Amino acid sequence: MSEAIKTETIMPTYARFPLTIVKGKGSYVWDDKGNKYLDFTSGIGTCNLGHVNDEVKNKVEAQLQALWHCSNLFHIPSQQELADLLTDNSFGDKVFFCNSGAEANEGAIKLARRYAQKVKGNDAFEVVTFKQSFHGRTLATLTATGQSKIQDGFAPLAPGFRYLPYNDIESLKEVAKSTTCAVLLEVIQGEGGVIPANKEWLEELSKICKEHDILLIFDEVQTGIGRTGSLFAYEQYGITPDVMTLAKGLGSGLPIGAIVATEEAAKALEAGTHGTTFGGNPIVTTAGVATMREVTKWLPHATNIGAYLTEKLNELKNQFVEIEAVRGIGLMQGIVLKGPANDIIAKARDKNILVLLAGPNVIRLLPPLTTTKEEVDEVIDSLIDIFKAMELESEGSL
Ligand SMILES: *Cc1c(COP(=O)(O)O)cnc(C)c1O
Repeated sequence: MSEAIKTETIMPTYARFPLTIVKGKGSYVWDDKGNKYLDFTSGIGTCNLGHVNDEVKNKVEAQLQALWHCSNLFHIPSQQELADLLTDNSFGDKVFFCNSGAEANEGAIKLARRYAQKVKGNDAFEVVTFKQSFHGRTLATLTATGQSKIQDGFAPLAPGFRYLPYNDIESLKEVAKSTTCAVLLEVIQGEGGVIPANKEWLEELSKICKEHDILLIFDEVQTGIGRTGSLFAYEQYGITPDVMTLAKGLGSGLPIGAIVATEEAAKALEAGTHGTTFGGNPIVTTAGVATMREVTKWLPHATNIGAYLTEKLNELKNQFVEIEAVRGIGLMQGIVLKGPANDIIAKARDKNILVLLAGPNVIRLLPPLTTTKEEVDEVIDSLIDIFKAMELESEGSL
């Protein structure tokens, strides 16, 4: 394997894989030594069209010739076009553009507070979120995140957040308090272990929110932009939120975030109430427009290949006792193990396959929507080899 890579001047906030990626195309990346890897991480669900998609690249290159940045004090055609595409293809009426998932969630929390304080008065400021959720790393979004390991050492946390267990119908009666302004959740919890929302639970939650005029906010930062086979994961459930946040897949790897809201919810953010310098900049929104157009074409393929991946993973589960469950929707899948997943992820890397961790014991697969049956088979075959070798090893040690 690679020798130690020097990162002395980079803050050690990431436990990095011992790999330096220098090139990508489609489902593959190459390291600095010329080794090729099948990438089922997609930059953590970001390069949904695969690496260096030609359509996106051509549009961005043309925009690089014309204008890079001009600030939101001016009208930006690609920003308008992307907002139209997002609202034409979702429940939403209005969009605010920013630069990341955390910034989108931060803005959605601000929107919800301001909306509730206009409609209900100053006591309605609490945001309900869920255990093992992930919403970002800013002070408000790490507070929204229901994981103590993300919050550790950053006290005092932002006030006004409450946590409930995910997928637990019983505890939903805690939602309808006069102090609640919004409920924020991932339709499939990503970082927390690839946990899809239960349909009845989400329906009940949506009903409670409607009855009490509580804004329902879906964090689709990871699930959005075709990941589950539909453009947005909420379509899989037939439940629409009031607000949705996007980021990861929206720019094919260029940094962009978005808050999509209904006309009614969006009224809370009037002129001067929110802003960001780079948000919706000509380059990233050009990438966003090209991404949306391309992803829309790939949705039927993503649905089919997602079903194929699910089927293959379930076969894998039936073959090895080490696998406790397989869960997810479309091309967002988790292999839940009885033991830790890190070792298997490293072994896959030795076989030139890149996969992700989610929670301590879940292998997370986020292949591009453009992936093929052959690529899925390659990943499954490698996992079979790894699990077989592990079984032999543990038999030998008995
Ligand atoms: C990645 C992620 C975020 C944070 O996005 P950043 O762009 O890293 O700030 C928020 N919510 C979910 C569900 C995510 O997966």
